[in-house]
Amino acid sequence: MTVQGAMAGIGPIILTAILLGISLGFAIPIGISASRRGMNAVGWGVFAFFTWFTGLIVFLLFAKPKTDDMACSACGQRIPRNHVYCPFCGHRESIELHYQ
Ligand SMILES: [Zn+2]
Repeated sequence: MTVQGAMAGIGPIILTAILLGISLGFAIPIGISASRRGMNAVGWGVFAFFTWFTGLIVFLLFAKPKTDDMACSACGQRIPRNHVYCPFCGHRESIELHYQ
């Protein structure tokens, strides 16, 4: 086998590896981000794996706020940090106190 023949043989493998790497480069961060937002991590990861930038854009459009939320000081329900009023009991949160 010539050198060119060998290159032609491994070329598609390298190309596949690169494409796989790019796919995982989209799938893994989006999957992690999805799980942090209480979304379907596997579903979004698989979706991004195949759709790349399109998947990223769609994800950003549909992404829910991160669930690194806080507990309502009145009823204890988990509520997003940016909420001023608790959606469960209507208690007004002083959000400054919860940022740290
Ligand atoms: Zn509450």
